[in-house]
Amino acid sequence: MFDNCKIPKENILGELGFGFKIAMMTLDAGRIGIASQALGIAQASLEVAGEYASKRLAFGKPITKLQTIQNKLADMALQLESARLLTWRAAWLKDNKQPYTKEAAMAKLAASEAATFLSHQCIQILGGMGYVSEMPAERHYRDARITEIYEGTSEIQRLVIAGNLIKEMGLN
Ligand SMILES: Cc1cc2nc3c(=O)[nH]c(=O)nc-3n(C[C@H](O)[C@H](O)[C@H](O)COP(=O)(O)OP(=O)(O)OC[C@H]3O[C@@H](n4cnc5c(N)ncnc54)[C@H](O)[C@@H]3O)c2cc1C
Repeated sequence: MFDNCKIPKENILGELGFGFKIAMMTLDAGRIGIASQALGIAQASLEVAGEYASKRLAFGKPITKLQTIQNKLADMALQLESARLLTWRAAWLKDNKQPYTKEAAMAKLAASEAATFLSHQCIQILGGMGYVSEMPAERHYRDARITEIYEGTSEIQRLVIAGNLIKEMGLN
């Protein structure tokens, strides 16, 4: 809390009166970072799940032979790759000094929800071994959940996306 706090002029960051705007711009950039963190968690979840499923035998064969497990792996890969492309797009726009507020919010929302989905599926594929802390699956799930909260919650990302969309489409 900075209440009645006097700051010397030479310590001002950016232009006077633009603090909120500067803070929001910092968040835009940070969201690409959180999206990248979430992608790492999602990728790790897919790798843990795939590796475990290929070694875990049920009724004499690896569970990767079961279509139910294959469907889970396919959905995981789909969400991961979609989120990765959105994140690369936001990073490309930033690198090329183009507006990226909406794209960063989309990347952060997609990647954090993908991380939660993938780590959740990873626990399911590992069964009981997914729940216990000997395997990294439960940690990936805990790590994934914070990416939906900090640097703007998923609810706030949706507000940012919708706000920008309404402006772009010339709607009220
Ligand atoms: C481990 C950790 C590290 C953190 N690191 C940082 C950091 O480095 N820098 C930093 O600034 N903050 C940091 N935070 C704080 C984090 O950014 C906040 O927790 C987050 O912004 C949510 O705010 P809140 O906890 O006050 O939740 P609240 O604002 O109380 O929100 C509670 C719920 O209501 C919803 N909600 C609130 N307002 C609205 C609205 N207007 N429209 C729709 N839904 C709404 C939220 O989405 C959420 O679901 C960190 C938090 C944690 C747990």
